Amino acid sequence: MRVIVVGAGVIGSAVALELLQRSVEVILIDSDAEGGHTSAASAGMVNPFSLTPADTPALPFYLASLQMYPDWSNTLQAISHIDIEWRQGGCVRVALSESDAQQLTASLEWIRRYEPQARRLDTRDALEWEPILNPEIHAAIYLPSEGWVNTTRLMRALHQSVKLMGVNFYKGVPALSIVCAGGRARGVRIVGDSLEGDAVVIASGAWADALTQPLGIHTPVVPVRGLILRLGDLPAPIQRILSSPVGYVTPRADGTALLGATREQAGYDLRAAAEGYAHLLHALARIAPTLLHATIQGHTVGLRPDTPDHNPYIGSVQGVEGLYLATGHAYHGILMAPATAHAIADIVLNSATQLPIEPFHPNRFTR
Ligand SMILES: Cc1cc2nc3c(=O)[nH]c(=O)nc-3n(C[C@H](O)[C@H](O)[C@H](O)COP(=O)(O)OP(=O)(O)OC[C@H]3O[C@@H](n4cnc5c(N)ncnc54)[C@H](O)[C@@H]3O)c2cc1C
Repeated sequence: MRVIVVGAGVIGSAVALELLQRSVEVILIDSDAEGGHTSAASAGMVNPFSLTPADTPALPFYLASLQMYPDWSNTLQAISHIDIEWRQGGCVRVALSESDAQQLTASLEWIRRYEPQARRLDTRDALEWEPILNPEIHAAIYLPSEGWVNTTRLMRALHQSVKLMGVNFYKGVPALSIVCAGGRARGVRIVGDSLEGDAVVIASGAWADALTQPLGIHTPVVPVRGLILRLGDLPAPIQRILSSPVGYVTPRADGTALLGATREQAGYDLRAAAEGYAHLLHALARIAPTLLHATIQGHTVGLRPDTPDHNPYIGSVQGVEGLYLATGHAYHGILMAPATAHAIADIVLNSATQLPIEPFHPNRFTR
């Protein structure tokens, strides 16, 4: 069996790797020279709770993916010899006002249904753990299971792994359209040629609708631009994710930290706006004001593939046999990558998966 995966971001690359590990022949194709720009630009938090506004139906899938991370990280290390710096260091989520504090208390109630170890932190303890936190925080909770990876390394490890596992990688080659015949996906059209396959997985992030529209299938995905600043020369190291309603700071193994992230409606424009810097620095002043003495070592910008309910599309496309969607992972693509890869490989090979993908039906907005 030969599967064509369109898009070599974290999702497409993870899907390709999982299929290769199950002895499937894979063609991976990306219009970029490297692929996965958004994925590499992300903060890399593996955080089912801290940025989740309420008890979302996606949580069982988030948790399944979180559980896969230790093994997934080891597999990537074993194949590629690249350490993705997976750390399960936990997250301190803080409230910056009284109304935030009330929301935090409400969140803790539903979070504890999934993570009994999550708990309220005395603000003194929070400040002892992370002295750079704003002493004026109103409340804090601790989410011990959350972690993070270094996304530059993750993308290098994924690309190196699929290469070593024998993928046929077309870089800098856009998929122009899906080739269909007799109600079945048969391959992908590229400039001057066609690639033939038994199945096609669309994992092209914020660009997915361009490939399904010509088939009469609307896949609502919009790009939401996100900016992150990399901070160096921190006055004190941070050990955990520091998360708040206005932004977050995530530690890096080399002692730097990432300050994120904006949520901007700017189409496919990948430039960093000065306004984004202003927004993030204002957030930093509220979360950890002493970090204003850090240095800005650079920034990354990416386009999150967002959907109307912020949940991804994972599964087979009704009406076109052999066509699968793995896109729309919005704010949690790094978290959901291992479980998405597992689910798609199950569905492509066995038509079903045990993973809880019910909320992610690809046709849920068009049925
Ligand atoms: C600032 C920021 C912070 C984030 N932080 C986190 C976080 O902490 N934790 C988390 O879980 N998630 C986070 N995310 C979200 C996460 O990065 C995304 O959900 C994830 O990267 C999406 O991966 P993807 O593979 O679907 O898309 P992408 O990485 O965008 O990959 C899609 C690929 O498809 C290719 N492509 C598009 N069209 C075609 C075509 N026609 N032919 C061939 N190739 C094509 C593109 O070139 C691209 O390489 C963050 C995102 C941003 C922007």
